[in-house]
Amino acid sequence: MEILILGAGVIGLTTAYYLSEQGHKISILDKNPDAGLETSYANGAQLSYSYVAPLAGPGVIGKVPKWLLNPDSPLRFRPSLDPGDICWNLQFMKACNASQSDQTTRELLQLSFLSRDLIHEMINSEKLDFDFQPSGKMVLHRSTASFNTAVQLLDFQRQLGCEQFALNTEECIEKEPSLAPLKNQITGGIYTPSEEAGDCYKFCQNLKTILQARGVQFLFNQEISQLQSNGSSNVSVLLKDRQVLSADHIVVALGCESTALLKALHITVPVRPLKGYSLTLPIENDGKAPNTSITDFERKVVYARIGNRLRIAGMADLVGMNKKIDQQRINALIQEARAVFPEAGNYAQAEQWAGLRPATPKGKPVIDATRYKNLWLNIGQGALGFTLATGSGKLLADLVAGKEPTVPARLFSLNNA
Ligand SMILES: Cc1cc2nc3c(=O)[nH]c(=O)nc-3n(C[C@H](O)[C@H](O)[C@H](O)COP(=O)(O)OP(=O)(O)OC[C@H]3O[C@@H](n4cnc5c(N)ncnc54)[C@H](O)[C@@H]3O)c2cc1C
Repeated sequence: MEILILGAGVIGLTTAYYLSEQGHKISILDKNPDAGLETSYANGAQLSYSYVAPLAGPGVIGKVPKWLLNPDSPLRFRPSLDPGDICWNLQFMKACNASQSDQTTRELLQLSFLSRDLIHEMINSEKLDFDFQPSGKMVLHRSTASFNTAVQLLDFQRQLGCEQFALNTEECIEKEPSLAPLKNQITGGIYTPSEEAGDCYKFCQNLKTILQARGVQFLFNQEISQLQSNGSSNVSVLLKDRQVLSADHIVVALGCESTALLKALHITVPVRPLKGYSLTLPIENDGKAPNTSITDFERKVVYARIGNRLRIAGMADLVGMNKKIDQQRINALIQEARAVFPEAGNYAQAEQWAGLRPATPKGKPVIDATRYKNLWLNIGQGALGFTLATGSGKLLADLVAGKEPTVPARLFSLNNA
């Protein structure tokens, strides 16, 4: 069968990888000149299989007023009169309760654990080279209250299959000596040995090479203007240059841009851009940069070593489809990072980047068929697209093949998003 995948980000590429195992003739189309150049380019680098709890948590609504008043807060929100945005915001608020957050966490863990097994298989069989680090992750807590809450959650997490340990300040520093300058600022940390890190862009580039060797065709510099059905039960793709492409199956993996393009087909998906920022710092003082992946819980900033670089990422801004770097936000991120790892490298030389997480209100992706016979969705992985990429790609490939997926597909259907 001929399969056309729309979007050469990490989700489109992993989908192509698993579909190509079924022997189909596959093409991947992207408006950019290469793979992995949008949100998959410089993300937080975390393969965070155990930390999948959604942003819509029980305590979030109470914190919003404080975040809105502080220009340097980790979350920023621009009021919008767009009905889609209003609906997304209401759905997000509705999801901010303990029972929904627990349910989402349980469902996402099934996909993240599958993703972990699959990426390990892929690393072994394909000899991937993407600065992969089985680094473990330490979530640092500054206040006693937040550390105590995290310790109380350990039993819940353990029941779900996450092996985690609470460490006091000294133990945190023993495990990660580069944290020594923070001695008086941290109360403790939760350490998860199974978490990993890697460069998502390099992962995409590796996959591109593997897929090309399998005969997958890449159609770069091709911008989609419209998805069209012309009254039929099949969809075709109209490009900006007026070419029309059709295929037996078409997979939408267009990240944040999926929402607008699907609208023309009267498919409403709850995917909105949640903007974030990253810095990539060449490490100059090896002992002053962490080997373990670090999350600064209260500041919502993550740090991961990828090769000889330190990736720092954070911020969640609901400000529409705007990828421009806001200097005030990136300066706030630089300031946070300088305060934590002041001597890791020269922050003036850090590569600055902004990207749009394709976020759903509950924090779950949509991996599903549509009412059109040849159209499939693999979108909305939000803040976890790198972590969930292999599981999402495999799940979609199983659905196309009519096979029973390892993870129940209904968990990630559009109706359950
Ligand atoms: C600051 C930040 C930090 C993050 N940190 C992490 C992390 O640590 N761990 C993790 O797991 N995830 C993280 N994420 C999330 C992760 O990066 C995303 O979920 C993931 O990259 C989404 O992949 P995608 O393939 O869906 O989208 P994309 O990578 O955006 O790919 C979509 C592709 O579609 C193409 N496209 C769009 N419109 C058109 C069109 N009209 N015509 C043709 N092509 C088109 C684009 O060019 C693009 O290549 C982070 C994200 C951000 C922003």
